Parts: sequence; structure tokens; C-alpha cells
Amino acid sequence: MWLKGALLDIASALRPDHGPTVVREWSDAVRLLDPEPVGFRALFLIGLGWEGHPSPSKLEETLTAFTEAGWAVHQDVTDQDGESWATARREEFEVRVYEGGRSGLVALTGWTPVTYPELRLGQPSFTRSTADGVLCDDCHGWGVCLTCEGRPYERRYERCWCIANNAGPGKCVECAGRGLRSHAIVLWCRPRQLLHGADAEAAPLSPIAEAGHDSTLSALSDIAQRNCTCGEFRCSWRNVVHEEGEHLLARFVGACQGCDAQRAYTFTLPLP
Ligand SMILES: [Zn+2]
Ligand SMILES: [Zn+2]
Ligand SMILES: [Zn+2]
Repeated sequence: MWLKGALLDIASALRPDHGPTVVREWSDAVRLLDPEPVGFRALFLIGLGWEGHPSPSKLEETLTAFTEAGWAVHQDVTDQDGESWATARREEFEVRVYEGGRSGLVALTGWTPVTYPELRLGQPSFTRSTADGVLCDDCHGWGVCLTCEGRPYERRYERCWCIANNAGPGKCVECAGRGLRSHAIVLWCRPRQLLHGADAEAAPLSPIAEAGHDSTLSALSDIAQRNCTCGEFRCSWRNVVHEEGEHLLARFVGACQGCDAQRAYTFTLPLP
């Protein structure tokens, strides 16, 4: 709850007149070998929208607001199309900051550490919403051998099978301790669609443009409720806007965090 309040405070200071939108709240379940979850992480997606086209970048302002609120900020990348990514950390909380390509949309995805109601366990490397790729099927993002929970035992008559593993004792064999299958590895089991630049423009899914929204933020709030064909809703959405004839065309693309398939939606927005 502290995290949600802190994000809303920062977002409201940036947009005092319009106010931020809580696009979605959810949690990531964390499990060991049994299907029953052992812990949960809370996540919030908060969106900020600015009018005008092309919209000037608000990333600088956003990151300054985080710094002033006591967060450690790290700017990761800025794409040639104007998309930007950054990370803000404070204590055990983390926020992924994303700005769309000249679309006036800034999205803040914040998450808490994983909490365990009963057991006392360490933090997994990734949970489904925080993985940049597909979570490892064997260790569910922990990166450790789940038979011994990363504490390889070797007793007189018994040793955990992970002791002789190439990745090292206690590590997950499938992902070599990374916790996820990278796009490069997923490639052999599932073709990955590229999302960058020209590839995104020529996306094979090239969806029919939908009407009914007047801003990228409103469109984001809509697609954040939609599921992938695999049933997963978690997706790191990216957004670019360009002018086409009498209106704006807002494209959203993202890789499903469940199956890594490309998802795409297009919306027509009124010209400002
Ligand atoms: Zn693994
Ligand atoms: Zn083991
Ligand atoms: Zn999927």
C-alpha cells in the first residue's frame, strides 16, 4: 500500500490538473515445487497522459520527481523512435518507468518484494511480471534447484541431484541459474516476433484499428484488461503514435509474459 501511495503522489505532482490513472493492480504468485503458491508480490501499473502531438518527452521530469522523492534512478535506454526505459529503486521497491514514442504516455510499473505468509525464503530472481523473457518452467524464476531449494545437500547416503550439474550445485539446470529463458533460448521452442522499429511497423498481426478512445492512456487502460490467447494478461506494452490522415494511429505492441508471443493492438485517436 505504501508503494501505491508513493507512486500516486509522484504521478499527481507531475499531473496536478488531470491526475494519474491506476491502469491495473495485480499480484504475482510465487511457488516452489508444489502448485500451491508460497508467496506473493503486489504490482501496480499507473499511467500518465499528456495531450498534443507530437508530445514532448516527459521522461526527464518524471525521473526528477522520483529523485526528489528519494528514489535512486537509473536511465536504461532511449530508442530512436523516442521510446525510453528507466528504473527507480527505493529500499526493496522497484519501479519500471516507460515512455512511449512521442505519444504523451508515461507508464509506471511498481512492485513490492515477495512476501511469504508462512515460510521464510529469499527473493526469487524474477516473478512473471518482472521477467524480461519467459520464466523458467523448472524453477519458476528462482534460478535455484527447487529440490533442495538452492541448498544442495550431500549426506552419507543421499545427495541432491543438482550437485553434479554443469551450472553448479544448487543452481537450476534448465536456465543455468538465470531464472528465465532468454529470447535467444526461447527461439528454438517458439518463434519470437521482433518488436523493434521497422519490424514493429510491418508486424504480421497488423490489427484492425479500433475506435472508441480519445487518448493513449485510455487505450492502455483498455488493453491492460485483455488476455493473450494463452490466457495471460501480463505484457510489457510499448506504444508509438503517428499521424495518419484525419486522425492519430496509436500502436501498442508487447511480448506476452506467459508465452512470449507478440501481441499488438491499434487504435485511432482524434487529432488534438
Ligand atoms: Zn530455471
Ligand atoms: Zn538441489
Ligand atoms: Zn501468451
